[in-house]
Amino acid sequence: MKTVNKVVKLQNYINGEWLNSSSTKQLEVLNPATNDIIANVPISTVKDVEVAAKAARSAFQDWKNVPVPKRARLLYKYHHLLQENHEELAKLIVLENGKAYKEAYGEVQRGIECVEFAAGAPTLMMGETLSGIAEDMDSEMFRYPLGVVGGITPFNFPMMVPLWMFPLAIACGNTFLLKPSERTPLLASKLVELFTEAGAPPGVLNLVHGAHDVVNALLENGEINAISFVGSQPVAKYVYERAASKGKRVQALAGAKNHHIVMPDANMEKAIQHILSSSFGSAGQRCMACSAVVVVGDGDDFVRELKNKSENLVMGNGLDDEVLLTPVIRDSHRKKVIGIIEKGIEEGATILRDGRKEMEKWTNGYFLGATIFDKVTPEMTIAKEEIFAPVLSILRARNLEEALVYIQKSRFGNGATIYTKDASAIRKFREEADAGMLGINVGVPATMAFFPFSGWKDSFYGDLHVNGKDGVNFYTRKKMITSRFDF
Ligand code: NAD
Repeated sequence: MKTVNKVVKLQNYINGEWLNSSSTKQLEVLNPATNDIIANVPISTVKDVEVAAKAARSAFQDWKNVPVPKRARLLYKYHHLLQENHEELAKLIVLENGKAYKEAYGEVQRGIECVEFAAGAPTLMMGETLSGIAEDMDSEMFRYPLGVVGGITPFNFPMMVPLWMFPLAIACGNTFLLKPSERTPLLASKLVELFTEAGAPPGVLNLVHGAHDVVNALLENGEINAISFVGSQPVAKYVYERAASKGKRVQALAGAKNHHIVMPDANMEKAIQHILSSSFGSAGQRCMACSAVVVVGDGDDFVRELKNKSENLVMGNGLDDEVLLTPVIRDSHRKKVIGIIEKGIEEGATILRDGRKEMEKWTNGYFLGATIFDKVTPEMTIAKEEIFAPVLSILRARNLEEALVYIQKSRFGNGATIYTKDASAIRKFREEADAGMLGINVGVPATMAFFPFSGWKDSFYGDLHVNGKDGVNFYTRKKMITSRFDF
């Protein structure tokens, strides 16, 4: 990284060197809370990807033969450095993403946990054996890395999502080429810098900044064996189809519309607290954010109280302690969201709280107040589409069956939550809600690093999810040995 007039000019990291892109094209990186230019990120080219992929391929020849415990030791050192830099990393996230410091601090922790998990590679990569598959015959299964993995990541978790990918992939013996979001590239550069400091050999982790040209180059490049993608639904589908058609292994995590069912017996106060934090924390820009509440029974008291409590939400710069509601990532996104709010009104939903009214006092950042719609019906745009902003839709249902139908009819299936104490409702919800990550009285049921993370339906394309044993299976291929001993 080098600084020009206090604006950081980012570089790519290829084969152990910080290099300028072969293109002079750049994009300004903006602080969402202030609209200040904080960096220039190169919009790299196909050529940059080719050079990086070649370097990763060449590094793979040695890295795959490094004993697994030795590879894991690199992760231990990295873990230590990430912990030492916890606060600095969190501040960098606030600077480029805009989320509240507390959220950013928690995100760094979730990232560190992925490194902890990956450091278990010697156990995780163990194969299986069976003595006596037939008379005097045994079978063994060994795991091997795939080769070069390409990772493409979104803006909303600049730390956690890259760390879902490269620590485990590299611990399993692969080399890696990361393409972070062009809207949050600073943290990715820092992660790479620290990985180098931990002692990663050249070419094991490479970084190419840029936008869709870099993505397309990764999907096409013959040196790359697998793609891990996290981002919006249309891009995830495109990445999955195009990479698979080139014979690559792909996991593509996509968008979401997460429903929270509130049963009549729920602890109202706690449910409201969880819903407000899930819907409006990080400006609703979490793939596990609550974006639709389904109130079962006569929910008028609940809705009134939810609206009242939403008046206490503090909006502002993520560096201020008491702030929950932070800006959205770009002004263009805010404009798009305003269009969707107008559509909600046009389509007949009742606007209980209009966040647009709070924008005026924020002349610089991309702030949008909490917006709440009531009497939303499933066919409305605001009920169907991912808005990815502080906009919450409330639907009404007569009973749990009806509430579950809303979840089942949604094309997304990332997460869903139920608030209740009723064991039979919990079981019914667990069995019938068709989403990948469910919460029972939990506002953001995101899984931890040792469990698989991802959704169902249009929220995920692929087979093996990220993290946990699925992650190990994704980043390794199996070899079977069948032996006869009476020879
Ligand atoms: P995005 O799809 O705009 O970008 C993701 C990545 O794809 C970026 O690196 C970007 O450069 C690249 N990209 C964007 N448009 C492209 C195109 N046309 N062709 C090729 N590449 C392209 O996503 P985002 O706005 O950065 O992130 C938010 C989205 O990510 C939301 O939809 C959210 O739900 C989703 N997300 C999902 C999960 C999950 O676990 N399912 C986790 C985090 C975020």
